[in-house]
Order: sequence, then C-alpha cells, then structure tokens
Amino acid sequence: MALGTIAVSERDMAKRGWIGLILILMLVVSCTLLKAPAGTSIHLMLGNPSNAIPSTGAPDNYLMEKPQYALSYNSQKGRANWVSWQLNRDWLGAVPRRNDFRPDFTLPEDWYRVTPVDYINTGFDRGHLTPSADRTATPLDNSSTFLMTNIMPQTPDNNQGPWEELESYCRELVKQRKELYIIAGGYGKKKLIAGDRVEVPARTWKIVVVLDRPGQGVDAITDATRVIAIDIPNNQGIRERNWRSFRVSVDQLETATGYDFLSKVPEGVQQVLESRVDQAG
Ligand code: MN
Ligand code: MN
Repeated sequence: MALGTIAVSERDMAKRGWIGLILILMLVVSCTLLKAPAGTSIHLMLGNPSNAIPSTGAPDNYLMEKPQYALSYNSQKGRANWVSWQLNRDWLGAVPRRNDFRPDFTLPEDWYRVTPVDYINTGFDRGHLTPSADRTATPLDNSSTFLMTNIMPQTPDNNQGPWEELESYCRELVKQRKELYIIAGGYGKKKLIAGDRVEVPARTWKIVVVLDRPGQGVDAITDATRVIAIDIPNNQGIRERNWRSFRVSVDQLETATGYDFLSKVPEGVQQVLESRVDQAG
C-alpha cells in the first residue's frame, strides 16, 4: 500500500513537472514571438535602432515595414522617429513624382492619422524621409513615399537646401553602382503644429552607409566602409550651406537620439565607423 501511494504521487509529480515545463516553454516561445521585431525587411539590414515593435502597445515606437522602407512611428509626435531604406539602381526608374500626399491608413485605427492638410500654413514643408526621387521604379513605389508616416515638418531652407543636396548626392553614388543603407529622422522639439498633433523636430539627421556594389550584405562592412552622418538644424537661413558642413559622427547622433545605429555590424567595426566623421569630397 505504502509503496503504491508513493508510486502514484511520484507519477503525479512527474506529470505536474511536465505540465509546468510545457507552460514555461509556451511562455518563452510567445515572449520571443512578441519581442522579436519582425525585422526581416531588407531596409533593416543594419538593425532596428530603437527596437521598434509592430504592437499597439508601443505607440511611441511602432514598427512599420513596407515594401519600400521601414520605420518607427511615434503617435505622440505624429511622425516617424526614423525611416530606414535601401537604395540601389533597382529602385530608380522613370516614374514621375506622384505628389499624392495622404494619411497612412495602415496605422492602428484608433490612432490619429496625420493628414496632408495638417501641414498647410504652418511654415513647414511636408518633408520626405525616404525621398520621392529614391523610389521611381514603379508608380506604387513612388506613391508610398507620400504617405504621411514618411513625412516630417522641415523648414523650407533645411528641406530644399542641404537636406536635398545630400539626397541628390546619394543618388549620384548609386549611379556609380554603389548600394546605400540610409536612415533618417528628427530629434529635439522645436514646436507643435496641427493642433498639437505633430511635433516639429529641432534638428534633422541622416546616416548613409555606402557599399561598393549591390547585394554584398552586412558582412561587406569593414573599417574602411564610408559612412556619412549629418545633423542639420531645422531652421531657416541655411539654404545655401553645403551639406558637408553639417557632418558629424554616428556616435554623436547616438548620443543625441538615444538609438543604437548599425547594431547588426560587429561591435569592433561599429566602434571604428561610428567615431569617424566623413571627410570625403
Ligand atoms: Mn525633401
Ligand atoms: Mn551603434
């Protein structure tokens, strides 16, 4: 009798042990699934600098992956924290600028969707993060750049001056067969517009990683890889200034934004690339 009782209770305990183990495994798996940034987009090849996630539980750091670019949306600021995109010759074609600025209805439905009209009479341009001219292979690609989640308020002199000059320079590099990984955003608060629904950044920044040819992947990034980083005040009066005069190190932008850029690049290489300020012509 005594032996039998012990045997049963051992079986029970073993059963409970297994159930417990299975529950823990299920918890670990579901946490991993929830935590893992979808992150499969080619536009995130160098990383997801704010660990954005595609969850309504992250309204200030909401990951959106589109075929044409990836971004972290900040619903408090009514704009992206950052937008990241690949640029090579495959993205460039002859499609004309479509100019169809519109709300992004792929945002969660109970979040405010910024409209093109929100920028009217504010004194700020509807500034592209991924430029229209970087997405000219198909009408759909070009149209995607006019979603308001890809737009931030920029002063006309910032947007149409040095910001635009660097955008054009990037496409020059692509014509030399380079492949670029670009990430851009704004930081600091200049003011609020659109009934306080959109925060105008005090400064706009961009990082461009230049690879020698398309398709090389992150392993091709070495100490010798060119990285261009800029930090431009979102002010008037800078239209004639050369974008090169706004160059900074990636380290400076990491300090300013709190993000970890190039996180998929090995740490040693990251340290070298991020501390250097681009000097090339
Ligand atoms: Mn622009
Ligand atoms: Mn980094």
